[in-house]
Amino acid sequence: MRVYNFSPGPSALPLPVLEKAAAQMQDANGTGQSVMEMSHRSKDFKPIFEKTESLLRELMGIPANYKVLFLQGGASLQFSMVPINIAAGDVPGKGKTAAFVDTGIWSDKAAKEAAKYAAVEVRASSRDKSYSYIPEAPSAKPDDAYYHITLNNTIVGTRWNKIPDTGSVPLVSDISSCILSEPLDVTKFGILYAGAQKNLGPAGTTVVIIREDLIGHAPVWAPAMLRYDIHAAEGSMYNTPPCYGIYMIGLVLEWLKGLGGVTAIAKLNREKAELFYNYLDNSKLFYSPVEKPYRSLMNIPFITRTEDAAKKDELEARFVKEAAAAGLVNLAGHRLVGGMRASIYNAMPIDGVQALIRFMEKFEKN
Ligand SMILES: *Cc1c(COP(=O)(O)O)cnc(C)c1O
Repeated sequence: MRVYNFSPGPSALPLPVLEKAAAQMQDANGTGQSVMEMSHRSKDFKPIFEKTESLLRELMGIPANYKVLFLQGGASLQFSMVPINIAAGDVPGKGKTAAFVDTGIWSDKAAKEAAKYAAVEVRASSRDKSYSYIPEAPSAKPDDAYYHITLNNTIVGTRWNKIPDTGSVPLVSDISSCILSEPLDVTKFGILYAGAQKNLGPAGTTVVIIREDLIGHAPVWAPAMLRYDIHAAEGSMYNTPPCYGIYMIGLVLEWLKGLGGVTAIAKLNREKAELFYNYLDNSKLFYSPVEKPYRSLMNIPFITRTEDAAKKDELEARFVKEAAAAGLVNLAGHRLVGGMRASIYNAMPIDGVQALIRFMEKFEKN
């Protein structure tokens, strides 16, 4: 029996996607091969790759002056690749300024990594209140090489509700946990990147969407595998790309298009999130620690109101265990913040959210 999987990532995939992949496992598109067995340069794989890219372009409205790259190394490698390619100097350690807004553990990691190659300035932070809100974004400075934000903060459950205007300074954003969850104006950004394992497909593929003028500035010492210009010139095939992951992303995008695309999924995502926040805001036992205007549509942390710390831990452990026994899995909060968290990405049906609320009502009564 399939469970409702609230994992923050890797996370649930749409059932029709898994069924299609299973049906094509041994013989994809009449080729007599699994996609896993195909040469990445073959005529069999080419249409699969092209379909994935064109669907992503269509669904996200990616303009022609942006390249789409399918890379490896996760979002975490982009924490290094972005500064190496657009801020580092030819002399290591003498990079340009990179501005960051610190809204959680991932943006902090991105800033710390960038500091190895660029002069990082953290211009605002919400650390003072355990990252429970998004701070006002100060203006970019003319000499900034880029300005980095994490659009959706997976661990603490916040989301930018408006995109800062950074003028001519390229805005760079980690959109790992919100890509394709609601409409996004790509033209406001210089670089967007996302690990696939939240809203796009299995782990192993990283999508990078980069404006063309930001390609070609890597310093001489940059490793070939970390250069956007090389990956762009080779059409993501400088080396073997994560072929099966790209195929799976294509199936997920096909599924999303069939549902009506980003506008349709955004409506569903808002319904799911509203339902759950509404329950939390009226519960006597559980609450959301996140300030209302900044609440994520994708990741919803919640904690119990119990005062006694030991009792609280015990109650929350019991909650996670009993929920799992009821087919509602992966509800523990991030190991660094505790509590619980329900990740309700595109693939989570509204029935799953309703089942979770029913379970929480029952737990609350007992
Ligand atoms: C999951 C996540 C990451 C880490 O992604 P990897 O692909 O494991 O490197 C980084 N940023 C955000 C916002 C995430 O949600």
